[in-house]
Amino acid sequence: MAIITEKNPAPVKKPATVLIDEKKCKGCDLCVYYCPQETLALSKTIGARGYPVAIVVQDNCTGCQECARVCPDVCIEIFR
Ligand code: SF4
Ligand code: SF4
Repeated sequence: MAIITEKNPAPVKKPATVLIDEKKCKGCDLCVYYCPQETLALSKTIGARGYPVAIVVQDNCTGCQECARVCPDVCIEIFR
């Protein structure tokens, strides 16, 4: 097992990638509300369904899947 020191730091975890299907998103805000990282926000523009859509605003997703679990329209996929 490697010893973590100043010269040998722990590897930085690469953020996960969030993919949101903007055509399906109805802007209900649930994913934004439940994301513990504040990775998501609602857009200021209107999407295909006539509402703002969820967008990624920070590259800090941990891949916890909470947003994908709460989305009622199954719009979100997480890739690690
Ligand atoms: S997977 Fe977790 S951290 Fe990433 S956007 Fe969804 S709720 Fe936020
Ligand atoms: S939970 Fe789903 S439908 Fe609601 S804003 Fe997020 S991606 Fe859009």
